[in-house]
Amino acid sequence: MSCIFCKIIAGEIPSTKLFEDDQFIAIKDLHPQAAVHVLVIPKKHVVSLDEAFPSDGSGDTEFIGKLMATGTRVARERGLLPGGFRSVINTGAGGGQSVFHLHLHILGGGSMSGKFG
Ligand code: 5GP
Ligand code: ZN
Repeated sequence: MSCIFCKIIAGEIPSTKLFEDDQFIAIKDLHPQAAVHVLVIPKKHVVSLDEAFPSDGSGDTEFIGKLMATGTRVARERGLLPGGFRSVINTGAGGGQSVFHLHLHILGGGSMSGKFG
């Protein structure tokens, strides 16, 4: 298995775990881009939103809904609400994805300058 997030989920690579349930883990990003930068990662290896939502329309919308719900829960637990936070999912190299195991970025704290920077 070569996927870095699968190794983190398996405990083979250390991480700072903030949340875990049967479907997801939330860890601190190794290279934070904001005062709070958390990654919510499904335990199931799904490459990206492209894989999660195939063109035949068979995607699991409930699964992605749970990913967003978990991100919101973690943001709240990290003190980002009611102030606010940013959630980002990069899809494919063209979208800036560098780890090809689906994950949701939760960013916040301090001043979030630049809408998409
Ligand atoms: P992407 O660019 O794919 O949207 O996001 C990948 C994120 O994973 C980056 O923000 C990067 O800092 C983070 N990352 C890469 N390797 C590791 C690691 O080994 N541990 C942790 N905690 N984060 C990592
Ligand atoms: Zn993986």
